[in-house]
Amino acid sequence: MAEHGPMSVIRKKYQKAKVIVTEATKSFVGLVKSGGKKVSPETLNKRLLICQSCEQFNGHTCKICKCRINWKAILEVSSCPIKKW
Ligand code: SF4
Repeated sequence: MAEHGPMSVIRKKYQKAKVIVTEATKSFVGLVKSGGKKVSPETLNKRLLICQSCEQFNGHTCKICKCRINWKAILEVSSCPIKKW
């Protein structure tokens, strides 16, 4: 049964915030561990093409993790939150 009312809104916002914090934490920890290692230009292009054709891409950021794709895709430690790359 679908939940309605203020608690439903709060729960949905909490779930979205949890995804953003989880992705940001993973990226930060990975970035520190990897020393900021970047992907090859070929891998970067592949990632950008996937994002550009993704329904979650809003032209600059990913609607799921809220990352700026140009910055996210270049780092080796980054990954797509729905495993597209
Ligand atoms: S990171 Fe993944 S979900 Fe986000 S825009 Fe790119 S392909 Fe889509």
